[in-house]
Formats: sequence, structure tokens, C-alpha cells
Amino acid sequence: MTLLVPLQPAVIAIDGPGASGKSTVAFRLAERIDYLFFDTGVLYRAVTWAALERSIVIGDEAAVTELTRTLAIDVAAPSSDTADGRHCTVLVDGRDVTWLIRTPQVDQHVSTVSAYTEVRQILSDQQRRIGARYGSGQGDRAGVVMVGRDIGTVVMPDAALKIYMVASAEERARRRYLEQTERGRAVSYAEILQDLLRRDQLDSERVVAPLRPAEDAFVIDTSQLAPDEVVQRIIDLATKRVAKTPAFG
Ligand code: C5P
Repeated sequence: MTLLVPLQPAVIAIDGPGASGKSTVAFRLAERIDYLFFDTGVLYRAVTWAALERSIVIGDEAAVTELTRTLAIDVAAPSSDTADGRHCTVLVDGRDVTWLIRTPQVDQHVSTVSAYTEVRQILSDQQRRIGARYGSGQGDRAGVVMVGRDIGTVVMPDAALKIYMVASAEERARRRYLEQTERGRAVSYAEILQDLLRRDQLDSERVVAPLRPAEDAFVIDTSQLAPDEVVQRIIDLATKRVAKTPAFG
């Protein structure tokens, strides 16, 4: 389907803490309304993975920034022969790292990398270029659903619709736990919960582009909602093109 009233710019920003349901919802939403799905977290994860792979010290801001400048990160729609549950394929210098960027080791370090000012600048510029192209109707889809932490506040502040997704920490940890065990990974629920809380704190307290809802974002608590219910709520909001005022619930 396409939206009855096209959004202008055709950008839906979905922000929120880890495992709040952003990617699952955004992916389904994008499919329904023929928008590009763009999960910006994969860029921060790809840089973090590459730094670890090259034994770059994560605390060395200059080295991580230099790496970010030189790294070729490609994000593409999954091809038909990669039916392994991925929402997109992530390539770093041509290597498929889609699942490698989702290990606990990357989880552990990504918030340090994403707090570096120049790393954010470089990756935000890349995100903005894609957002501007698809948002102005120059992409191969009707628009773009962008997922992250600072899309509505910093990357695409003029997005036509902004959603901020939340869920209880326990529910988020439960989702992550299921996701990981389904992939055959031996993980502990307690460790996942601890890591999510730690990342929430780092992402919210960093100086540059901290995690927080935009003033004109609609806050949706997904704790008790199925993904398709959240998708429908967002489609309803987009269809009504409601005034840009904050709402809760
Ligand atoms: O969404 P995901 O959990 O994959 O993001 C991984 C990390 O990347 C986050 O914890 C956050 O530190 C960082 N990130 C960010 N800004 C974004 C997207 C992700 O800082 N727009």
C-alpha cells in the first residue's frame, strides 16, 4: 500500500532505546508502505566490529575516528538467497558482517564508539544523504523509515513523522534473549539486561546527540503490543498527518 496522503519529506523517524522494537516494527512498516528501511545502528556497529577486528583500542578516539573515515560500509536489501531473518545486509569493505556486528562483544563497545563526536558527524552525514534522497522522492521507494537514537532530534529533525518507542527493561531483555537463543547463541538473560541498562545510560548521558525523544515525537510503549499493532498505530498517525504535538501511550 501507499499512504493516502504522501508525507513531505517522506521520512519517518523511529528512535528509542535498544530492543524497544524499533527494527522489527520499522521493517514491517517500510514493507507495508513501500518505504526504504534504514537501521542506522548498523553503521555504529560496523565501525565497532571493524575496530575490534583490527585490534584498534576502542578507547583511542583518534584511531577509531580515522578508521570511520576510511571504512567502506554498504547497507543493502537482503538478496533472495539470504533468507536467514536479516532485515538488511551489511558489508564492510565487501565482507558480509550482518551477523558479526550483533555479537555481545560489539554490544559491549558500540556505545563508546557512538559517543565520539567526529564518528557521529561522519556517520550522520551518510545517514542524512540517504534521508534527503529518499525523503525528496529521488530514491527507488516512496520514502524512508529511519531507525536510531537521534534521527528525530539531530539527523532528520524535519522528518514528517517522529516516533519514540519505549518498553520496560525486562521486556526488552526478554526480546533480546529470545533473538539470540533463536540464533543458537548461549547467552544469559541477566547479562543481556545489564548490558541494555548500561547502554541506555551511556546513550542517554553522552554529550553529543544523546538518546531522548524529540519534542514533537509520538511516544509509543510497545511492552504490551504486538509488532503489527505498533505498525498500524504508526500508519494511522501517518495517514491522519496529525499535528506535530507530543502524545503519550
Ligand atoms: O540500535 P542498535 O542497538 O543496533 O544500536 C547500537 C548502538 O549504536 C546504540 O547503543 C547507540 O550507541 C548507537 N547508535 C547511535 N545513534 C544511532 C543509532 C545507533 O548512537 N542513530
